[in-house]
Amino acid sequence: MATTDLPAGTTTIFEVMSRLSAELGAINLGQGFPDMAEPGELIAAAQRALAERSNQYPPMRGLPELRAAIAAYYQREQGLTVAADEIIVTSGATEALAASILALVRPGDEVILIQPLYDAYLPLVERAGGTARLVSLTPPDWTLPLDRLEAAITPRTRLIILNTPNNPVGTVLPRATLEAVGELCAAHDLFLLCDEVWEGMILDGTPHVSALALPALQGRAVKVGSAGKILSMTGWKIGWAIAAPRIASAIAQAHQFITFTTATPLQWAVAEGLALPDAWHTAHRARYAAAKARLVDGLTAAGFHVLPASGTWFVTVDLAASGLPGQDAALAQRLIREAGVAAIPVSAFYAADAETNYLRLCFAKQDETLDRAVERLAAFRAANAA
Ligand code: PMP
Repeated sequence: MATTDLPAGTTTIFEVMSRLSAELGAINLGQGFPDMAEPGELIAAAQRALAERSNQYPPMRGLPELRAAIAAYYQREQGLTVAADEIIVTSGATEALAASILALVRPGDEVILIQPLYDAYLPLVERAGGTARLVSLTPPDWTLPLDRLEAAITPRTRLIILNTPNNPVGTVLPRATLEAVGELCAAHDLFLLCDEVWEGMILDGTPHVSALALPALQGRAVKVGSAGKILSMTGWKIGWAIAAPRIASAIAQAHQFITFTTATPLQWAVAEGLALPDAWHTAHRARYAAAKARLVDGLTAAGFHVLPASGTWFVTVDLAASGLPGQDAALAQRLIREAGVAAIPVSAFYAADAETNYLRLCFAKQDETLDRAVERLAAFRAANAA
């Protein structure tokens, strides 16, 4: 290989489907972003921050006001006590994941990843010099097989990465499961990186249990959050990592050479957004719960089998149970071309041994968009179901 050769690389399935969707003029229920009107209070807060606050570098770990607002939000929403010196503000949860993985994983370490997995984890672990060991959730209820998780731990294991609520399948890890994972981490001296970005979008009242809330994980856990999800401003890219001060300092060391800091005016706006009254956050969530019910009811009436999901902006369809057996990736291609609806095959969230029977649909869309998508999907099923 010549020294200037570059790896071929891959483009994420979300980008691929969004691009194809735009090209074909399809309805995009693939990538997870809302197309509803954006909250006016948040736009006004950002405008005020641009005009009246600073547009220069904020402190490397984030504005003190934002870190205080994050701590207050978690106290209110989850009864979770975190201190400002445990919080590192980053450019989206993606950077929080990158900084945490670079801080915790050393060349030669093993990292346990749970499939289906968010696409950034594996390449980031490999960039840090780590080796991934994969454990899969068990469909269709997507439980975590603790025996297989324990069997995947070796003397080289350094870190487990969890995601709750889970993208793509929308399940929430029960407290007992998280406690069992915590005990494994304590017994084998491991770190736990818990991607909790969907914590603010649990739509059926199931309680969110943070890794930071468990005694067994004290001093071992990193919690990753995202204002993009909590406030539905995915393009603002404000996220954070929270961990005990010793770990937070290691994450800050990585963050200072990735982005160093994150857009100052948007940090002010997120601080205001998180501090909006509970009633605002409840009403905000309720809009998404209504959108979810609209899509699920429409699909169910059309004969699709939609799996239960507690959180995220996604639901998954069981293809075989919907009379559409076959490979999810091939079906997603047919759907976008023949029905004009973009969806994400769940197999894209696997690095090996993929489940191929599920499609992920994003419901964070306006009523008319959802209704048109349901009409098209219903017609496709009527013409193709076995
Ligand atoms: N983790 C998960 C599970 C996600 O779904 C996402 C966004 N889709 C992220 C991390 C990244 O969040 P952000 O946009 O704040 O970087």
